[in-house]
Amino acid sequence: MSNKFLVILEQRNGYIKKSSLEAASVSVKIANQLNAGVQAIVLGDKVENFDLIPLTGISEVTFYYNKELSEYSSSAYTSLITKHITDNNFSEIFISNTALGKDLAPRLAAKLDCGLVMDCTTLEIVDNTIIATRPIFAGKMLMKQKLTSAVKVYNLRPNAFGIIEKEPSVVNIDKVEVADVCLSTKTVEVKKNEGKLDVAEADIIVSGGRGMKGPENFNLIENLANELNAAVGASRAVVDAGWRPHAEQVGQTGKTVSPNLYIAVGISGAIQHVAGMRSSKYIVAINKDKDAPIFQIADYGIVADAFEVLPSIIEEVKKIKQ
Ligand code: FAD
Repeated sequence: MSNKFLVILEQRNGYIKKSSLEAASVSVKIANQLNAGVQAIVLGDKVENFDLIPLTGISEVTFYYNKELSEYSSSAYTSLITKHITDNNFSEIFISNTALGKDLAPRLAAKLDCGLVMDCTTLEIVDNTIIATRPIFAGKMLMKQKLTSAVKVYNLRPNAFGIIEKEPSVVNIDKVEVADVCLSTKTVEVKKNEGKLDVAEADIIVSGGRGMKGPENFNLIENLANELNAAVGASRAVVDAGWRPHAEQVGQTGKTVSPNLYIAVGISGAIQHVAGMRSSKYIVAINKDKDAPIFQIADYGIVADAFEVLPSIIEEVKKIKQ
């Protein structure tokens, strides 16, 4: 039986997430090397940006719709997707490592009694088989894994793969209305950080640590983030102190991020923080202690007082943008 890939696309407020388009793009790349077909599935109420899917190279999408599916539900999503996989004999399943993906991927693997690799940062083909790499021990080591079950689930770290845009083609959307949604839990209310970029998805992150001295000084971090269209991140020290919300925490007990640019300001670089951001493409550290461990992983280091350099950097960025 030839391989048949399925990528699970996640929508939020009717828009397919960038991390899902990235998962679609990498699954197409891998499928091409194995001569496999790729289809996508999305669950929700409505989808506004179906037109972006063909850019990833996918042309077949099944859209299960019902008002009750607009918000993620473990029970409903797991049962519908499991049935879709078994009915259509999909062999390789790809899903992004978002909050939804972290919950759904292990549930699918349990239901399908199959292998799962969480938080993959690389996928490669060796002897016609997918080899997945994932960081372990807080990113200190990389583990390569080969799944041997008939169905295989790959959970992919956002921003680790990038989107390879293809020539746009026609996308065929099979719309399936779900009459009866099995909800063992129901989302009553979702409170959003209005207008704020999510650190897990941002291309640029400006993160502040205890070196910012107090919550009132985070306006400097926010100003730089605004100028760079970046998300604001934080170390656990400042989240524990109540200076910043937990949603911004980067690290072992926060979010794992892989932006193109990570600017760490007044962050020492403890192993638990580094675990969540070491796979960033470029790391810039601003710290007044030249021996701070963050400089060991930084591509560019500024040994200075954050309160002196941040205003100058913000001014320079403004000038460049004018
Ligand atoms: P500090 O370590 O206090 O560093 C502050 C830095 O600011 C120093 O390097 C200092 O030189 C610099 N500084 C001071 N003043 C200035 C100035 N004016 N200008 C420039 N620099 C200045 N941490 C996380 O971040 N994320 C996690 O998910 C996480 N999970 C954890 C899980 C466990 C089980 C444990 C035990 C710890 C965890 N931690 C986590 C905590 C971690 O060990 C560190 O305590 C924390 O990251 C330190 O935060 P910080 O760098 O902001 O503060």
